Amino acid sequence: MSFESLGLSAPVLQAVADKGYTTPTLIQEKAIPIVLMGRDVLGCAQTGTGKTASFVLPMIDILSEGRAKARMPRSLILEPTRELAAQVAENFEIYGKNHKLNMALLIGGVSFPDQERALERGADVLIATPGRLLDHFERGGILLNDVKILVIDEADRMLDMGFIPDVERIVATLPPLRQTLFFSATMPPEIKRLADRFLSNPKEVTVSAPASASKNIVQGLAVVQEDDKREALRALIKEQDIKNAIVFCNRKKDVAILQTSLKKHGFNAGALHGDMSQPARMETLEKFKQGEIQILVASDVAARGLDIVAMSHVFNFDVPFSPEDYVHRIGRTGRAGLTGHSFTLASPEEGGLVEAIEKLIGTTIPRVEVPGMAAIAFEPSDGRRRSRGRSRGGSSSSSRGRSSSSRPPKEVRAEQAPRPQREPKPQSEAPQALEARPPREARPPREPQAERSNRESRPPQEARPSQEARSSRDRRPERSDRSSRPDRRDRDDSPAPLGLGDHVPAFLARPTR
Ligand code: AMP
Repeated sequence: MSFESLGLSAPVLQAVADKGYTTPTLIQEKAIPIVLMGRDVLGCAQTGTGKTASFVLPMIDILSEGRAKARMPRSLILEPTRELAAQVAENFEIYGKNHKLNMALLIGGVSFPDQERALERGADVLIATPGRLLDHFERGGILLNDVKILVIDEADRMLDMGFIPDVERIVATLPPLRQTLFFSATMPPEIKRLADRFLSNPKEVTVSAPASASKNIVQGLAVVQEDDKREALRALIKEQDIKNAIVFCNRKKDVAILQTSLKKHGFNAGALHGDMSQPARMETLEKFKQGEIQILVASDVAARGLDIVAMSHVFNFDVPFSPEDYVHRIGRTGRAGLTGHSFTLASPEEGGLVEAIEKLIGTTIPRVEVPGMAAIAFEPSDGRRRSRGRSRGGSSSSSRGRSSSSRPPKEVRAEQAPRPQREPKPQSEAPQALEARPPREARPPREPQAERSNRESRPPQEARPSQEARSSRDRRPERSDRSSRPDRRDRDDSPAPLGLGDHVPAFLARPTR
């Protein structure tokens, strides 16, 4: 099928051709004609499938008629992270270069006045993260009654990051007569329920089995001792022919430690996590995109949805807590028809997490050996399988035993304290409960932690919520979908821990002689 047969206008087709695309991807083929018809879409597609263009291209054509009024955007695209929002904005610029559409990008970490000016000009397309959008809304800087097209992108990630209540608040302010495009890589029941509420007679478009990993990704998994992971990673990096790679860590503090360690060993490594300032995040990302940084150590939140062309490798330094995250992480490689490689380092205690992933993706991740390291077994737990690793003579530091002098520094060891296992996730709140929330005045804006943490200087005092309102926010109990994840304390979107939280310092976990 050709782009010409999808019903797009000549200027959009020209922009697509200039970008070098010759044939539409499957999601584009299926979704574009439906969006152009004005119908709602429920899209189940993972990143890397060309999903962004599947909504951006037809939106440009739909929005080419008409003009936006000041502070009243005509369409709204909600993205879970700043990077993803910025990426979609980039796409709009590329594909919309032959149109005169105004775009506004509302993300945390960027100054309010610039964003207010963009809104004031009148935005045909508003691309935003939920927290920053609500901030503008609460200040009265934006009216959403003119939004005719709503896109909710990466809905499952919104759920994972606890943004769904914010998304629900935003959707409640939109006109009911609108076109809604709802995309998610996976369709867990909570997401399906949400889609049922937001969409009206949608056309379902699924381009691959939910949560399946791309066939273009060659996967591998090595079981190694937690203490040996850094050594194992270095060995794999040296063994592989790496053009560029992301190394995912479950915790942002591990990101910094691992980056320092890699640099110490002579690797060209950068770091990306939610505690970094927005300019620093953007700068690192740009360097990685330009090839100035070869290995990017990142947390899930910061790296979500990154579209780096031809990324050769993804490494999971930790097995992700959520099986869906595994699919997202490895989906950073093997994009746009290219072959990618992913390697996961699992400690013996992470067998349960691996099992959950394999159940989700419906296949066993091939076990690989780390050069020079003994393959070991998963710890048996609850009668689960014992091992897939093979034993091989090697020089694993743990198999050698470590002398106290060869131990990593204390703060490094502290990161390796036992990790809490994921608890079953409670059901999200019933819709009625959400509708019954207090009116806006009583609920000051809430910005997700990931956004709050890097916020630039606060706006003038009078623009901020009243003391009373702020304290009501402080008192407000956490919602189930925010608090349900015990492992979130050191994730980018997690609240700060109280006391030691679940963190057990390593010296407490060490056996006494
Ligand atoms: P996405 O799933 O939207 O993140 O897109 C994944 C990658 O595919 C991006 O690098 C796009 O530029 C690229 N892409 C999107 N559509 C096409 C197409 N029709 N042909 C080739 N590459 C594409």
